[in-house]
Amino acid sequence: MGRTVFVNGDYVPEEQGKISIFDRGFLFADGVYEVTAVINGRLVDYGPHMERLDRSLSELRMDWPCSKDELRAMHEELVRRNDLKEGIVYMQVTRGATDRDFKFPKDVKPTLIAFTQTMSLVDNPNAVKGVSVVTVPDIRWLRRDIKSVMLLAPVIGKQAAYEKGAHEGWMVEAGFVTEGTSSNAYIVKDGKVITRGLSNAILAGCTRRALFRLAKEHGVVIEERAFTPAEAYAADEAFLTSASQFVMPITEIDSHRIGGGQPGPVTRKLRELFLKEATG
Ligand code: PMP
Repeated sequence: MGRTVFVNGDYVPEEQGKISIFDRGFLFADGVYEVTAVINGRLVDYGPHMERLDRSLSELRMDWPCSKDELRAMHEELVRRNDLKEGIVYMQVTRGATDRDFKFPKDVKPTLIAFTQTMSLVDNPNAVKGVSVVTVPDIRWLRRDIKSVMLLAPVIGKQAAYEKGAHEGWMVEAGFVTEGTSSNAYIVKDGKVITRGLSNAILAGCTRRALFRLAKEHGVVIEERAFTPAEAYAADEAFLTSASQFVMPITEIDSHRIGGGQPGPVTRKLRELFLKEATG
């Protein structure tokens, strides 16, 4: 693959990107991350991602690994060194490497790593025909507002969805959809977008935040409330959002066709608005 990756202050060929076996990210999933999209070599929504990183770190009483300016410069340098036109930058901060002990260690430097991945985001073929989702149980912990690297439950959910031929799993808790395994979940009924309100039960998506702003600017009404799978089956449209998928139409949920099996007008409009801004 030949990428240049970032590890604790150094830009190195990916084969040389190594961290300690004592790293608390590895041993305890004691770390947080962000994924920022890149379009035309430019970072999309960088500010909101760093605000969320700041919040994740402070909720876990973890230090910033460097200054905010240094982190931005590192993202830009990684894009430049890899000549990344379209894709993502993944960055992860952990509480650092030290002898295994559950308690927070003292005087340990956080680990910071980052790498790029080339992906087709704007012309993602899935966006043309829409994707299918299946519901899966939400077996995660109770602080889903923190963007923690502890992703085993979403990994299991995504694998279950994949094995059923679906693109994403919508996680269900107490009869209501929380969110996708790596995305936020929306339905559209009578022209109105419905999505779960922010709380510890879901991650506050940066794409969700941009979507709310664009919807407001363009007169699209969003209602924040929980919805059931049954309500989703009867919706006019459905879609998901994430940094790497933007607004992705959903045309099937648990084998129920949504919107006649075609991406709907509200979803298409929101995707267009998002792309216009991100590529502009
Ligand atoms: N919810 C979960 C559980 C996620 O993993 C993600 C993607 N990181 C999202 C929502 C979407 O967040 P964003 O729009 O910031 O990518």
